[in-house]
Amino acid sequence: MPRSITPYRGRFAPSPTGPLHFGSLVAALGSYLDARQNKGAWLLRIENTDPPREQKGASALILKTLEAYHLFWDEAVLYQSQRQAIYEDHCQQLLSNDLAFYCSCSRSQLGGSGEIYPGYCRHHKTPHKSETAIRFKVTAESVCFQDQIQGPYCQHLHREVGDFIIKRKDKLYAYQLAVVCDDHLQGITHIVRGMDLLDNTPRQIALYHAFAYSAPIYSHLPLIVNNDGGKLSKQNLAEPISLTATRATLLYALAALKLQPPAELQTNSLDDILLWANNNWDKSKLSNIQHSICPTQIPQ
Ligand code: GLU
Repeated sequence: MPRSITPYRGRFAPSPTGPLHFGSLVAALGSYLDARQNKGAWLLRIENTDPPREQKGASALILKTLEAYHLFWDEAVLYQSQRQAIYEDHCQQLLSNDLAFYCSCSRSQLGGSGEIYPGYCRHHKTPHKSETAIRFKVTAESVCFQDQIQGPYCQHLHREVGDFIIKRKDKLYAYQLAVVCDDHLQGITHIVRGMDLLDNTPRQIALYHAFAYSAPIYSHLPLIVNNDGGKLSKQNLAEPISLTATRATLLYALAALKLQPPAELQTNSLDDILLWANNNWDKSKLSNIQHSICPTQIPQ
C-alpha cells in the first residue's frame, strides 16, 4: 500500500458581501465535487476581512443556502474576522525578513488606483505611522503554475502587478494575505474556485514562497457571465439563488460544470443527484473553458 499520501483538503471561501448567486453556487459545487470525488475534506471559510463591504446577515444566509443544496461541509466554519492576530504575525514576519515595507503613498501620489506601484516607499524607507499600509515586495521574475483546468499560467509580478498591499491603511488585512495564511493553516491541498481569481494566484504563490509554505494545487472553473459577457457578482446585484427550487437550480449548476445526470435521475433527491455528480465529475471536460453563460431560466 502506498505510504502517506497527503489527504485531499479543499474549501469554499465566500466573502459575505451578499447572498450566494448562481456563479457562487457553481464555484461551491465544483470545489465540493472535486473534494468528495477525491475522498477529501471540504471546508467552509467566511472571508469577512472587510467589514464595510459585509452585508448584514449574509454569512448566516450563505450557510443556510449551502445546507439547502445539501452541500454539507466538514469541520467548524472559520471566520476570517477572528484571525487578525495571525495576519498581523505574518505581516511582521515579512517586514522583519525585508520582504515587505511600510507605505504611506496616497492614491493621488500613485496616479490613481489600478496603476502598478512605482516603488516609491520601497526605495525611501517609510517609518511606521498609524496611517501606513504594508506592501509585499515582488521579485522581477515570472511566477508560473499549472492550473488543473486552465493549463499553464504565468505572470511577471514586477511588470504586471507591482508591490501589492497586504495590510491597508485602514488596518484591514488584504485578501491576498489572509487567503494564503488560512489556506496554509487549514492544510488546504487543492483550491477550486472561479476563473476571476486566476490572475490573483501568482501573488498568492509568491506569498507562499516568502513564508516557505508549499502552495496548493489550483483549478479555476469557468466564470459564469451575463449574456453581455459581464461577470455575475453580488455588486451588480446578481439574483440570489432560490432556497426552495433547489433541484432545478442544482441541475443548471451541474450543466455549467458539463455534468448532465440521466433523465430518470433528474426527479430524484438532491443526495442522489449529488452522488451521481460525485461519480461523474470530470474536470478535463472544462479544460480551457473560461466563461459559461448564465442560463436565463434559473428559478427565482
Ligand atoms: N472570498 C473570495 C470571493 O468570494 C474567494 C476567495 C478564494 O476562493 O480564494 O470571491
